[in-house]
Amino acid sequence: MPKKYVYYFGAGKAEGDAKMKNLLGGKGANLAEMVNIKLPVPAGFTITTEVCTYFYKNHKKYPPELKKEVLAALAKVERTMGAKFGDVKNPLLVSVRSGARASMPGMMDTILNLGLNDKTVEGMIKKTKNPRFVYDSYRRFVQMYGDVVLDLKSTDKHQVDPFEEIIEHRKKAKGYTDDLEFTSEDLKDLVAEFKTAIKKGTGFDFPDDPMEQLWGAVGAVFRSWMNDRALVYRKLNNIPVEWGTAVNVQAMVFGNMGDTSGTGVAFTRNPSNGDNEFYGEFLMNAQGEDVVAGIRTPLPIIQLKKENKKVYDQLEKVRKNLELHYHDMMDIEFTIQEETLYMLQCRVGKRTGPAAIKIAVDMVREKLIKEKEAVMRVDPEQLNQLLRPIFDLKEKDNAIKNGRLLAKGLNAGPGAACGKVYFNSYDAVNAKARGEKIILVRIETSPEDIRGMNASEGILTSRGGMTSHAALVARQMGKVCVAGCGPLEIDYLLKTMKVDGKPYIVKEGDYISIDGSTGEVIVDQLETRPSEVLQVLINKTIKPKDSKIYGVYEKFMTWVDKHRRLKIRTNADQPDQSENAVAFGAEGIGLCRTEHMFFGGDRIDSVREMILAYREEGRKKALEKLLPYQRLDFVEIFRVMKQRPVTIRLLDPPLHEFLPHTEIEIRKLAVMIGTTVDEIKYKINSLHEFNPMLGHRGCRLGISFPEITEMQARAIFEATCVVHKEGIKVIPEIMVPLISHVNEYKLQEAIIRRTAEQVMKEKKVKFNYLVGTMIEIPRAAITAGAIAQSAEFFSFGTNDLTQMTYGLSRDDSGSFLPAYIENEILQRDPFESIDVDGVGILMEFAVRKGREVRKDLKIGICGEHGGEPDSVEYCHNLGLDYVSCSPFRVPIARLAAARANIKNAGYPH
Ligand code: ADP
Ligand code: MG
Ligand code: MG
Repeated sequence: MPKKYVYYFGAGKAEGDAKMKNLLGGKGANLAEMVNIKLPVPAGFTITTEVCTYFYKNHKKYPPELKKEVLAALAKVERTMGAKFGDVKNPLLVSVRSGARASMPGMMDTILNLGLNDKTVEGMIKKTKNPRFVYDSYRRFVQMYGDVVLDLKSTDKHQVDPFEEIIEHRKKAKGYTDDLEFTSEDLKDLVAEFKTAIKKGTGFDFPDDPMEQLWGAVGAVFRSWMNDRALVYRKLNNIPVEWGTAVNVQAMVFGNMGDTSGTGVAFTRNPSNGDNEFYGEFLMNAQGEDVVAGIRTPLPIIQLKKENKKVYDQLEKVRKNLELHYHDMMDIEFTIQEETLYMLQCRVGKRTGPAAIKIAVDMVREKLIKEKEAVMRVDPEQLNQLLRPIFDLKEKDNAIKNGRLLAKGLNAGPGAACGKVYFNSYDAVNAKARGEKIILVRIETSPEDIRGMNASEGILTSRGGMTSHAALVARQMGKVCVAGCGPLEIDYLLKTMKVDGKPYIVKEGDYISIDGSTGEVIVDQLETRPSEVLQVLINKTIKPKDSKIYGVYEKFMTWVDKHRRLKIRTNADQPDQSENAVAFGAEGIGLCRTEHMFFGGDRIDSVREMILAYREEGRKKALEKLLPYQRLDFVEIFRVMKQRPVTIRLLDPPLHEFLPHTEIEIRKLAVMIGTTVDEIKYKINSLHEFNPMLGHRGCRLGISFPEITEMQARAIFEATCVVHKEGIKVIPEIMVPLISHVNEYKLQEAIIRRTAEQVMKEKKVKFNYLVGTMIEIPRAAITAGAIAQSAEFFSFGTNDLTQMTYGLSRDDSGSFLPAYIENEILQRDPFESIDVDGVGILMEFAVRKGREVRKDLKIGICGEHGGEPDSVEYCHNLGLDYVSCSPFRVPIARLAAARANIKNAGYPH
């Protein structure tokens, strides 16, 4: 069968449906779906994403069959709408809209009122008897077409848009204060002026032929897939370029036909906090992007009830039907034309982390979805937002009492942020690169600001509502945002902002604090404080039952734990860290780094003494001083962890990392251990290595200095005895680092086991323990079978394994790795997310070989990757027993593990 490139929708029947997102794009697929569930949608058709792919593969040409299909679909639209495209008496107008698979808010350009020219305008006027409306539509069309298709734009960020300049000029000349004061004559003149400006600025004539207009607009949508904004957005959101966009051509309905018409956007629930309430904004006598563009500040949706109860009730019904049909919170766009409601778009609504969890939990209670679906509804990174800081309420109240509240805007993206003010994206990005924390302040944001928004802690705008570009993108990025802060007077040229009647002039680089949960904007820095969930779990300053947010979190996490197989451990080497991790749900410690303990108090002196000793006796003497410290550390950690497994890694870093660097320190040390400054300097020099990462570290230390291994093993086992007597039957897991050959391991293992026997005898306590190793050198992965003959567990050290597989030092990669991502040599930073095709193959091999030898070999991962959702999924699929990550990532890893398990079981089929 030949390919079908165009899909019609309208009059209660569509050729597509919601499942065809890949082909029709999100917008096209959902327009079709809304038609199928009998919602009022103006007729139209979708040109598929395959045409976009074809377009870029074939020197920007269309498939030959396309034209015929478009004409046929257009004829159907004409029949449905009872008007004819280009007809002078009864013209059909259309919009041309982009629509990729994943929604890309504001990334692509939409053209409205297409089909108007000097002749069809007359027909429209006769038909509607409303010349002002018709000329307003014409004016908008020429403006959008001139901008998007013919590319007449301002050339830099300080310049005013050329069309807006013409409008402002006329407004001044006529003494108007509002666009609504324009007469139809004014608007007619504006059209002519626009056309002249287009000709002058671009050399192109504005096309009068509607067919030419249509193909021009279609081409512009396809070309916009490759524009700068779209490229940046795709990169930030990992959207592949191959997907392409669809084009939707749809019969126009008019929200600008007068006071009984209007347009709006809404969410079926509150996207900020998840409350089950209708949430949105509208404007009467307005068209298209007016609501989101922030030019006029829109009204809350509830006021539509007063404006027109009938339409409001109809919308409420649509809201219910959409949720019943999609089983999710939806984001809708609608237009009212002379009291008749039309749906123009719907999609699954973007939401904040707190809202995502609340909606998921509520919808399970409302029986709209099952538990597993609820788990799949929350992105692991969104959990971060529940753990994000808030302002200290007292401090904030004080600041407000002292008059430092500059203004209040809309609470568009919850959380607290504090940083230096920058007024454009360029300056913001540069400041961020210098290491500053920034707040991006704009009158309103547009897609050009994406980079700056991404670089900022928070975003503040003076115009636009809860569904403005700034609010939408901030929510998606998980940024703090205060939008529509009307009193702010922002001056881009002077780079200042102020509020009438307030004594402050905030300049570029000044600190402000914004509260995205309340909309407050405060001058100066405010301390931030842990979130409510943290206050319940960690600080214990709020009781669980007193926090609603915590209640929802708690419920959600019980479902998460019910549906996961992978265990989650934490990387911690202090008792308080370990305690936090347990509060976050950690089921054990996957990596306790003993070297961190060496820096506490004055222990470092004994460590240095040990390193500097020339003979074994000297080292032993120093180690004896360290032993009680280490033992106490382990006792405390075991007490916090109760019976949970604890994996302790023996000393790993090269010894010179512990030595003093400054002259003063060296002198002090010399006195303390009774040697000379020169002796110490000599020793430091002798420990110098050309490539420490591959040098004298890991088990190599324990091989040169077996007494270190012995002391550490003794500290662990003696601590085990201590807690055993308290009733905590811990089973310590001792981990030998940096093994490349099984014989290295065997040597260390023998010391550890011998020490265990001794301690058991001395203390008369019997305990169990495991000895295992890290798999972090490729040779260890390759010889995993031999190593598993002796080792009782493996733990992948994916940081080193990645370094050594790539031959790439992580700490030195900062200067060149970004270019690898930019040039798409690598899709992602392999230190952030496991390199499945390289490092992953080694891991898979090691798991297989290891378990061939030892069926019940316990395997985990303790690299940074253990808290990264995609890597967690990968580990789940590899059949690992656990992942280990930093305490604050534990909830995220739990969720990622549950999602991997549900997905693996074939969800949603
Ligand atoms: P975006 O992808 O940026 O949301 P849209 O294609 O949804 O762009 O178009 C933006 C706005 O233009 C819509 O929200 C709607 O208000 C208006 N619009 C688009 N098509 C039509 C139409 N056929 N009739 C009336 N308004 C339309
Ligand atoms: Mg758009
Ligand atoms: Mg839209």
